[in-house]
Amino acid sequence: MAAQVLDGAAVARQIRSELAERVRSFEKNAGRRPCLRIVLVGDKADSEIYVRSKLKSASDEGIDASLTQLAAQSSIEKVLDLVRTLNADPTVDGILVQSPLPSSLGDGAMLRVFDTIDPAKDVDGFTPVNVGRLVQNRAALVPCTPAGIVQLLDRSRIEIAGRHAVVIGRSDIVGKPIAMLLLHRHATVTICHSRTPDLAATAARADILVSAIGRAGFVRKNFVKAGAVVIDVGINRVTDAAVASALLGEGSLRHESFLKKGSAVVGDVHPEVSAIAGALTPVPGGVGPLTIAMLMHNTLVAAEQRQRR
Ligand code: NAD
Repeated sequence: MAAQVLDGAAVARQIRSELAERVRSFEKNAGRRPCLRIVLVGDKADSEIYVRSKLKSASDEGIDASLTQLAAQSSIEKVLDLVRTLNADPTVDGILVQSPLPSSLGDGAMLRVFDTIDPAKDVDGFTPVNVGRLVQNRAALVPCTPAGIVQLLDRSRIEIAGRHAVVIGRSDIVGKPIAMLLLHRHATVTICHSRTPDLAATAARADILVSAIGRAGFVRKNFVKAGAVVIDVGINRVTDAAVASALLGEGSLRHESFLKKGSAVVGDVHPEVSAIAGALTPVPGGVGPLTIAMLMHNTLVAAEQRQRR
């Protein structure tokens, strides 16, 4: 039997409609809308697409959002100066600097940005203060993708407490924070990464398997225990025809679209996993929409908290 599809897009719509109500009542009480400022350095096509969908979502929710785009060759000092200006602006509730930054800004540029953003306006939840609060289980601004995954599990009535969760990937933006959130929800958590020996066997012990590595179709059937819940965070653009036909299936609508466009987005999880997992998030339409919904949630929370100060 094919795995239950966990419809992240539908859950995201539900979260966003709840938020729209809260945004209206914030506006009524505060006399202004929550305000999100996005900073994009350069003009990387994928980043521009992500930023556009964040701006659209904000406007749908009644959040006042706008973009400041800096040239790709801007210095890190210029980026940090802009962040400081937004920190000091009382009308701004949330600041998001789109990653990745151009490599010309040097290693560690993103960390310097996180060191500079005011934690009260840190809607990504990546500043050291908010990461510390997350570890101590008292964060108000939780990284969006991991927060969205927990929302999806909860709203799909998937038990977390007492279960074994395996997270593949240890990035600061997904792997580590989702491991921490699942731990706080009383899962037993194993984190795997590129140097984990016998990764498939470790993954196959999971009741809840989260893959966040960025490798198309990496998680195969032998990584998955029968009936496990599989959360596919990966967003991988495939351009190779052989890989596309293996992952999309010749003759499928998505394969047809690949043949027209020359590329398709797939997850980390191979489609064969659907035959063994109990539940599975699709890519696209799984974790991605939840990430944006939680960004809107964090913007509202930041605005509410700043209003109460
Ligand atoms: P990253 O590149 O920062 O980290 C990748 C992690 O995967 C590393 O910890 C690395 O150790 C691990 N890894 C890489 N190759 C591996 C292998 N062969 N075996 C085991 N572990 C391996 O990635 P990230 O920023 O966490 O993103 C991961 C994926 O999730 C990407 O495809 C990204 O596009 C996607 N993503 C999606 C969303 C969303 O909203 N759906 C949000 C953030 C990231």
